[in-house]
Amino acid sequence: MSSLQGEKAAGVGSEDQYRALACDTALSTLVAVVLYVLLKVSLDGFRQWRARISVLIVGSGPVGLTAALVAVRSGKVLRLTVVDERYRSALLCRPQQIALDPRSVKFLLGLGVDFDNMEGCWHNEHFFTRIGVFQEYLLSILEKKKQSVDVQVQLGTKFTDEYLRRVQQSEGPRIIVVADGSCGDSCSVLGISSDYTVESCHAFGANASIERLDQRQVPTPEIRAHSLYFDLSAYGVEALREHRNPAAKSGFHLKIYGTFRNRYMALVCPSSDTRMVRFLRHTANSSIMKNIFHQSFNAYKTDIEPRLSDVTHHHMQCSRRLFEVQLSHKRVSAAYIEGDNVAVTVEGEAARVLNFDTGFDVNLGLPWYGVPCGGLFYRTATAVDQADVMEALSDKMQHSRHVAQCFKQTGLTESMFQ
Ligand SMILES: Cc1cc2nc3c(=O)[nH]c(=O)nc-3n(C[C@H](O)[C@H](O)[C@H](O)COP(=O)(O)OP(=O)(O)OC[C@H]3O[C@@H](n4cnc5c(N)ncnc54)[C@H](O)[C@@H]3O)c2cc1C
Repeated sequence: MSSLQGEKAAGVGSEDQYRALACDTALSTLVAVVLYVLLKVSLDGFRQWRARISVLIVGSGPVGLTAALVAVRSGKVLRLTVVDERYRSALLCRPQQIALDPRSVKFLLGLGVDFDNMEGCWHNEHFFTRIGVFQEYLLSILEKKKQSVDVQVQLGTKFTDEYLRRVQQSEGPRIIVVADGSCGDSCSVLGISSDYTVESCHAFGANASIERLDQRQVPTPEIRAHSLYFDLSAYGVEALREHRNPAAKSGFHLKIYGTFRNRYMALVCPSSDTRMVRFLRHTANSSIMKNIFHQSFNAYKTDIEPRLSDVTHHHMQCSRRLFEVQLSHKRVSAAYIEGDNVAVTVEGEAARVLNFDTGFDVNLGLPWYGVPCGGLFYRTATAVDQADVMEALSDKMQHSRHVAQCFKQTGLTESMFQ
């Protein structure tokens, strides 16, 4: 064989070797990458599966206890503490009802709430129960969950600076849910601004409450009446012409709700500048509103409850005149406490409240729990770093604003106008 042929053969041989080597390298790199990805995915999965956090809920009203139920069902909570300044007896004897709309009912059914085992009544797919009954039921579910989650319910304990310091010294919570109602001041303990955005709901309203101790305290469906006009001719206000005026829309909407013992009434109309509305907005004569509520109650009450007599009439509390219905919602409804690494979220009436009681206020709080609440527990538990928690909180704030916007647009229509 000539030397040229030898060189050629050697060249072909090294090319083959080179290809084989490149192939080997590519294959082993691929195997390494696949192994790395598999290992990372399974480690991440394991970390996420194992991730458990400690949650503190301030306030055991309907919203705080619903949040507690979401927490224990999330599978991401190791320790849950619910704190309320009221003692059990005070908590459970609250007289007002809550009305759960179909959306809230569906959501609570998903959490395992068994409405068949709760004192209450159904009407038009809404469930009506006493607030104390609802709270007692949720507390009993939490009690049963103690085997899987470390649940502590501390009633008769106020959330204060001192309390916060104490829990932070031990293994502090990673999430604090503030659900301390419209009068709570826990946000100030946590350094969260108490500023509210106040927005008009483009309606005027008035409320009344009647307490009749001889009547039953059982859950009762609400009553609604629409297109009401009142005869104010004695005060020089002619409503007749306004009936024909399309701008007068459909008059007033009335709702009677609560138990027979603690009856409430809400009267509302879309904002307009009719003579009747103008008169009722500015009158200094408070007996006019009283008369309207008195007569409306007797006209629309259920057949089985007594009429209001003149005696009880004088015991009725009511607004002196029509006022503008406004929704206040907290400017800051979520925060991150750096250093302690705690996510804070503000919910229920602590986050948004109406100056006009529709008897549906709890529903301004519950829709939040549909998706983002469980999401916040999950995302905080499995967060890799602070940025993940901040993102979850920012989504929550956005959702909170969305709830307020939705209520402003359709809330009164759904809860009062139909
Ligand atoms: C007169 C009246 C009638 C109503 N009628 C109806 C009705 O018919 N239907 C309906 O759906 N809704 C009704 N509502 C509204 C309903 O009661 C509220 O929407 C609901 O209670 C709000 O729930 P929440 O959990 O946000 O707050 P809340 O129920 O107010 O609960 C807040 C809890 O936080 C606790 N708390 C406050 N500060 C602290 C602190 N620093 N430390 C520890 N605990 C604290 C309080 O003790 C309280 O238990 C009515 C309300 C009123 C006032």
